[in-house]
Amino acid sequence: MSVGRFAPSPTGPLHFGSLVAAVASYCDARQRSGQWLLRIEDVDTTRSIKGASEHIIHTLQRYGFVWDGEIVYQSQRSDIYQQVLEQLLKQALAYPCTCSRKEISDSSILQGIEGAIYPGTCRLHPAKKDTAAAWRLKTHDIAISFEDLIQGRQQHNIATDIGDFVIKRADGLFSYQLAVVVDDALQGVTHIVRGADLLNSTTRQIFLQHILGYTTPVYAHIPLVINIQGQKLSKQTLAEPLPDDNIKDTLIAALGFLRQPIPEHLHTYPLKDIWQWAHTHWQLPLIPPANYSQGDQRW
Ligand code: GLU
Ligand code: ZN
Repeated sequence: MSVGRFAPSPTGPLHFGSLVAAVASYCDARQRSGQWLLRIEDVDTTRSIKGASEHIIHTLQRYGFVWDGEIVYQSQRSDIYQQVLEQLLKQALAYPCTCSRKEISDSSILQGIEGAIYPGTCRLHPAKKDTAAAWRLKTHDIAISFEDLIQGRQQHNIATDIGDFVIKRADGLFSYQLAVVVDDALQGVTHIVRGADLLNSTTRQIFLQHILGYTTPVYAHIPLVINIQGQKLSKQTLAEPLPDDNIKDTLIAALGFLRQPIPEHLHTYPLKDIWQWAHTHWQLPLIPPANYSQGDQRW
């Protein structure tokens, strides 16, 4: 049985880019006759906006998504993440770090895929006492690669491209990387279809899966919807919330963005039948790898 999921962060209302990700993971799961789960990724409570989860759930319902089982909220799972952290500590695979941002930027000389690499100060010397500590995972010089169904083969050296990364922050919140790996494993997720902005996170997540003895799911990273300035649609770039009316046209536009061969009269079907069509005709191989804007649609 395959299991897919949609895992929005409640930092604001869903926009067209989020809809595209939701549609892709939903169609992929249903076409495999698999389950499709909804998980609210509110692990970073400092970024969550009040009422955003309810708004997201309501929008998904209006657009006709039907998920399996109960909605999982990361904010309610700290005990589980803490147990995993303790397991890593027992195996001496993680360590406390009390370096400030400034100390790290002053001492880092190596650049990785996401900026300066943590120089390992607290891995070599004990962390300061009386300072709140973050927890970092020990990485090592190994290559992690995977075959993405859309983006092709990806590879990173965990030590030199990424470095020891934070799994629990000094403010006590668990990192996205840890939470997502634990949840995907415990929920039995087998197929992850999500935006290409997370492509660089995937090797970190696979590294964690290996350490924790979890199975690695299949990954497909869909192109991002970008605006005319070439920026990813997001709250920061002022992407518009999904409309509450015009649902069928918006859904068809999302399928069109994903280059699915839309029949001419699809917009005349009831919403349920549009989904029926989408689930049975879904073709993941038609999705191109590169990011492009909604206006570039050619269907
Ligand atoms: N919560 C993440 C986001 O909204 C997605 C995480 C994932 O799909 O792995 O960007
Ligand atoms: Zn440190």
